[in-house]
Amino acid sequence: MKINRLIVGIVLSLCALGSAPAFAQDGDQILDGIGETGLISRYQFKGDVRDWSRNNLHGIMQGTDFRFMPDSLFGNVLALSGESETYITIPGEAVSGEESLTITGWIYLRSAKSGQVFFDFGKSAGSRFFVAPAGTKEKPGLQTAIVAGSKDYTTSYDAVPLNKWSHLAVVIDIPAKTMSTYLNGVLAVEVKDVALELSQLFDFDTDKNNQLYIGKPIDGGKTFLNAKLSDFRIYRIPLTARQIGRIYYTGLRGGNPQAGRRGQVEQSLPVFAATTPQLYNAFLVSVPDTRVETEVGHLPRLPRYVKGVYSNGVTGPDVRVIWPAPADNSQVLAPGTYTVTGKVAGTSLQPRAVVNVTADGHDHAPQRTLEAFDLDQVTLDADIHNHKTKFIENRDKFITGLEATNPDNFLYMFRNAFGQKQPEGAKPLGGWDSQQTKLRGHATGHYLTAIAQAYASTGYDAVLQARFAGKMEYMVNTLYELSKMSGQPRTAGGEYVADPIAVPPAAGKTGFDSDLSVEGIRTDFQNWGKGFISAYPPDQFIMLEKGATYGGSNAQIWAPYYTLHKIMAGLMDIYEVSGNEKALEIAKGMGTWVHARLSQLPKETLISMWNRYIAGEFGGMNEALARLSRITGEASYLKAAQLFDNIRLFYGDADHSHGLAKNVDMFRGLHSNQHIPQIIGAIEIYRDTESPEYYSIADNFWDIVTHDYMYSIGGVAGARNPNNAECFTAQPATLYENGFAAGGQNETCATYNMLKLTGSLFLFNQSAELMDYYERGLYNHILASVAEHTPANTYHVSLRPGSMKQFGNEEMDGFSCCNGTALESSTKLQNSIYFRSADNQALYVNLYVPSTLTWTERNLSVTQATAYPKEDKTLLTINGKGKFDLNVRVPHWATKGFFVKINGKEMKVAAVPGSYLTISRKWKKGDTVELRMPFSFYLEPVMDQQNIASLFYGPVLLAAQEPGARTEWRKVTLDASDISKSITGDPSKLEFTIDGVVYKPFFDTYGRHSVYLDVVLK
Ligand SMILES: [Zn+2]
Repeated sequence: MKINRLIVGIVLSLCALGSAPAFAQDGDQILDGIGETGLISRYQFKGDVRDWSRNNLHGIMQGTDFRFMPDSLFGNVLALSGESETYITIPGEAVSGEESLTITGWIYLRSAKSGQVFFDFGKSAGSRFFVAPAGTKEKPGLQTAIVAGSKDYTTSYDAVPLNKWSHLAVVIDIPAKTMSTYLNGVLAVEVKDVALELSQLFDFDTDKNNQLYIGKPIDGGKTFLNAKLSDFRIYRIPLTARQIGRIYYTGLRGGNPQAGRRGQVEQSLPVFAATTPQLYNAFLVSVPDTRVETEVGHLPRLPRYVKGVYSNGVTGPDVRVIWPAPADNSQVLAPGTYTVTGKVAGTSLQPRAVVNVTADGHDHAPQRTLEAFDLDQVTLDADIHNHKTKFIENRDKFITGLEATNPDNFLYMFRNAFGQKQPEGAKPLGGWDSQQTKLRGHATGHYLTAIAQAYASTGYDAVLQARFAGKMEYMVNTLYELSKMSGQPRTAGGEYVADPIAVPPAAGKTGFDSDLSVEGIRTDFQNWGKGFISAYPPDQFIMLEKGATYGGSNAQIWAPYYTLHKIMAGLMDIYEVSGNEKALEIAKGMGTWVHARLSQLPKETLISMWNRYIAGEFGGMNEALARLSRITGEASYLKAAQLFDNIRLFYGDADHSHGLAKNVDMFRGLHSNQHIPQIIGAIEIYRDTESPEYYSIADNFWDIVTHDYMYSIGGVAGARNPNNAECFTAQPATLYENGFAAGGQNETCATYNMLKLTGSLFLFNQSAELMDYYERGLYNHILASVAEHTPANTYHVSLRPGSMKQFGNEEMDGFSCCNGTALESSTKLQNSIYFRSADNQALYVNLYVPSTLTWTERNLSVTQATAYPKEDKTLLTINGKGKFDLNVRVPHWATKGFFVKINGKEMKVAAVPGSYLTISRKWKKGDTVELRMPFSFYLEPVMDQQNIASLFYGPVLLAAQEPGARTEWRKVTLDASDISKSITGDPSKLEFTIDGVVYKPFFDTYGRHSVYLDVVLK
């Protein structure tokens, strides 16, 4: 059986590296067909009680009456004797803030004594959730129970058999109000109408009050478990019967737990008939054909929206057409004409597009004509009623939190890697920066950026600003000292390895490994090559070159270049805001190290590295190196940046046959945030190389992502197929069919990166569509991602019915990727309100946010006074004089007009929604420009299921405030001729009511919500 398992493993790894792209993204992240993001922790008990998930919620063995022993089925298992108080504790944070839970595990029960518990989780004897496999003192048989105050849900079943392996799984599904117990992959017993929130069982405020025991009751009972245990898992999602069956069978048969994969949609969303026209499509009569041009080799950009013909005098919106999405460019290899047939969700309409393929023309290669302002040139102001805006509220939560941080905590793992003593008071970070986490150091990179931005953004408070200056200097000085030790003799005349490509394995080892344990970590920095800096030794970088995959063992890695990107970007951010030369010096040293290693690798190795799920995730290393090249004028860094080209994604294959450069969607089903920063890198490289392909890659990617993968809040990840909350759906324009993953959607750092990409593209192409998206994502995801009173923030943001935001990292001491990114998001909220033309002859007002711009280059300032979005107008005042073009965004949703007054006098303008309006004028001091853009209500349906739609008011997404969990979409009936007739409320508070249910901006929503509604038009 073991040999079989090994063979399956080898075959799958080959698939992951080889030619079958469908498999390229599978790996440890899909365990038994369940996306990694659904897993809270996993204890295999093969010799220790470590958590093998990425969350590092390691168990602790309490007592001494246990041993790990060989087992014919599972290799090695944990045996508890039941003789004395011996059990396992799991950190209380494991269950904190979760909506639902599933616990699974194998048990080999060796005693029929009642009162033994498999596990017992709760905050007290009166609030607990347990499984007693051989009965409680009161009741015989397998007992599964939830006790929460006066509530008691208990189910009984035949006792778990003695002296053989049984698989137990218990699912608490809060929205469905069920508690289900599975024995050996089959539903044994279920209780319905479980009216409960997990906050009644667990302490969500103080994690340490949660007692999570395996083998010991929390009511003080003195009966301990006499059993062998294997593969105990905690999931944050209610697993389905099929998923539990799969865990059981792969465990039993020794199959590969990574074997469940795409093509298997967990169908847990309400289903609607495919032939029922929904929403405005119910009034649709026809959709005319369209004509599109493209050049040889390039897939055409087909119109996603076509003007439709409606019946009964209904004025419907443009019709969403879903076109086929080829995975290569074989249709357009020669000039000529061909026809594509699309579909319209819920109808039998088949709109056609006639595509004319012309001979190869010129590449579209726009110049970068705009620049962003420095952070210290724009200040956020209170609104016209002197109230703090959401921007200021969120900024201040982070500034206050950052100010209180101890830089030594963020340096802890760097000092640890270099074998240095920790200064007094230094405490290691938790989360993904803990001792044995292979991503440690990532939060430090974000932190460097955050304190740089906080420094640049706090010009309003000199004391505060000085404190951030102090933190920057201390961080850089320490990192500088460490980096100078790499590849240098420890003592005069000692041996050392300065050449990055000659780094040897650690002393006494024949190969490289990723062991970061206190006992196992190597600290021989003299052998690491000159310039090396990271919070771990160089091994993970080298292992990636040699084929290592993502995972928790010492032969596996996490994402070394991802972490490094954060560190290098942070150092350059500090250099740019403060001129700290040492910061630049460190970045250069590491840039040289990276170039030395990567430039000697064959192209095939690079292609394999960058397509390896997570292990090859490199964040925006290409962007960081291109930037380093621009700052330093050193060409080798730009060459290094291009070594990160994701060839499959960008060009289809090594021959550059198609890929994104030719508008072929190569990222369907892939991890979203692994790839978005690579595209940011493409546009950054374009800036310096002017190779038009890089621009096309970024432009095409943005177009496809925002049209075919986007949720209404602006997020782009979260698939049921492949089953992973962080992946794009398996096919484009199938958000309902393949999206809305149970494990969550809308990874917050993916939206951060989408905004960054959008801003970069706008500097080349002043399309209002870009900044319309920016406004959407900024207001409805980024502003909405922070807790009400603290800087705790979201990872995934689920938009399934009745979901709740989950916020983490309030104390800034345990970071996921999104927690790290949030430090950056909320310290630069002002960075895209205004842009200027590179020649300073034009100003772009992109966002309507109370703020002051100091346009140093023109020696003038512009103030923007408004309560937007709590009012529909804004007032710009020009303090200074001179001629320039004022370009203001006319949002796509401004369909009720866009009105301009200059110095109080109404101007006649021809403003088109979704464009920029240019006002050219010789400005004088005190000139005012008032812009008014009446808001209206409108729906944004899911492309392939039109009745499931979000309700917007102007730029603001309105969420139904839900009283409790739900499994069905909230049904809403709206007036077909004018939906606003069905809505009452107060626009100045952005609070509305439909059928007695309150709707508030999603960014002001902290309880359960429905962002998507099931809408009927009448
Ligand atoms: Zn993230």
